[in-house]
Amino acid sequence: MPLFTPRESLDYHSMGRKGKLEVVPAKPCTTQKHLSMAYSPGVANSCLEIARDPDQVFSYTNKGNLVAVISNGTAVLGLGNIGPLAAKPVMEGKGVLFKAFADIDVYDLNINQSDPEKFIQWVKMVEPTFGGINLEDIKAPECFEIEETLIREMDIPVFHDDQHGTAIISGAGLLNALEITGKNIQDIKMVVSGGGAAAISCCRFYVSMGLPAENIFMYDTRGLIHQGRSDLNPYKKQFAQANDAGSIKDTLKGADVFIGLSVKDLLNRDMVRSMARPAIIFAMANPDPEISYHEAKAADPECIMGTGRSDFPNQVNNVSGFPFIFRGALDVRARGINEDMKLAAARSLAALAKEPVPEEILEAYGVGEMSFGPDYVIPKPLDPRIVEWEAPAVARAAVQSGLARTGIDMDSYQQSLKT
Ligand code: NAP
Ligand code: MG
Repeated sequence: MPLFTPRESLDYHSMGRKGKLEVVPAKPCTTQKHLSMAYSPGVANSCLEIARDPDQVFSYTNKGNLVAVISNGTAVLGLGNIGPLAAKPVMEGKGVLFKAFADIDVYDLNINQSDPEKFIQWVKMVEPTFGGINLEDIKAPECFEIEETLIREMDIPVFHDDQHGTAIISGAGLLNALEITGKNIQDIKMVVSGGGAAAISCCRFYVSMGLPAENIFMYDTRGLIHQGRSDLNPYKKQFAQANDAGSIKDTLKGADVFIGLSVKDLLNRDMVRSMARPAIIFAMANPDPEISYHEAKAADPECIMGTGRSDFPNQVNNVSGFPFIFRGALDVRARGINEDMKLAAARSLAALAKEPVPEEILEAYGVGEMSFGPDYVIPKPLDPRIVEWEAPAVARAAVQSGLARTGIDMDSYQQSLKT
C-alpha cells in the first residue's frame, strides 16, 4: 500500500504558503534601531569589515551556513530533461532535507542553461554568496565536466550529489559487506550494470577505496564496456576492459559483487547462484531494483543485498551523506570536498553500522532487533547519530588534507552535534 496518493503529495506542496521553503530573518527587526542596523546605515559597518578582511564574511553574513542547490533540470529524478522550472520542487525538497537533517540553509537556484560552458560561468559568478554548492540533477556526461571545472576554479566546496552521494553510501555498505564475507577489496571481481552518472562515479569511488579498475566489468545498453568499442565517452573508457569478456551472465560467474545502477529486472536467480557465495548485491535502480530483495535471497539466502528502497534492508539513501558532508565541510570553512573527505564519510557510516542500535531507531522503523550483519551493513537514514559520526569525520579529513580554512576542537565540535 503506497504511503500517499498523488493528490496528497500535490496538496502537501500547495497547502498554506506555496512550496516547501521560506526565508526567515535570523535577527530581530522590530524597532527603528534594528531597522537601521539590519540595513542602511548600520549594515555598512559589516560591509567595511569584510572589505578590509574577506574572512569576516563568515562572521557577519550567512555565507558559512548557506548552500546553493543548483540544477539546470536536465536529468531530474527518473523524469529526464524536464527543465529548470519543473525541477524546482526537487531542489526545494533538497533544501528541506539540508535544513531538517543538518540545519543548513539553502537557496535553490534553477538555471535556464543547458550549455555546460555558460552554466559553469554562471555558477562561478554566485560564489560570493555561498559556503558551498550542491549540484543536482544535471545529465551525464556534461555533469562530470561541469563539476570538475567548478571544483578546480572555485574556492568553496562543489559537490554533485547524484555522483558522490550514491558512491559514498554504497561504498560504506561495500566496506562492511566485504568485512562480513572476509574479502579484500583488492582481490574482488565486480560486475556493474550501468555506465551512467551514478555507475561511473560509484566505480571511481570504489577505485579510490582500493578496488583495481581492471577488476570491474561494466555494462551499458550495448554490452560490456571494452577497448574494442568505438562508441565510448571518456568516462566509460576509464573502465574499459582490455577484451570483450562476454555477456553479463558470463562475467557474473564467480563474481564477488554486483552493482546495479541501470534498470529493473536485469538479474535473475540463476545469475545470483553463479556468483561467489555469499554474493554481495547492491541493486540500486529506482524505483525497482535490478533484482528484488526476495528473489536475491531466494537464490542465495546468505547474500548481502542493498537497494535504493526504504522498505527493504540496507537502503542506499543519499540523505545519509550530503547534509552531514556539507555540515563538516562548512564548519571548518573548507575550500572543497576532496576524496579524503568522501572516504572519511564512507568509513564513518561503515563504523556506525557496527554500533548497537538505540531503541528509538528500532521504534522508528517498527522492528524489534537490528544489528550489524548481512541485513544491516548501512545505518538507517533516519538514525540521528549520523550527524555526530559523519560531520566530524569529514571536518577532520578536511583539516588533515589541508582544505580547511579554520581548525576546530574536535571533542567539543562532536559534542555540539549531539541531538
Ligand atoms: P543514467 O546516467 O541515465 O545511466 C543509466 C545507465 O544504465 C546508462 O549507462 C545505460 O546505458 C544503462 N542501462 C540502461 N538500460 C540498461 C540495460 N538494459 N542493460 C545495461 N545497462 C543499461 O542514470 P543514472 O543517474 O546513472 O541512474 C541509473 C539508475 O540508478 C537509475 O535507476 C537511478 O534511479 C538509480 N540510482 C539510484 C541511487 C540510489 O539508490 N541511491 C542513486 C543514483 C541513481 P547507456 O549508457 O548505453 O545508455
Ligand atoms: Mg538527484
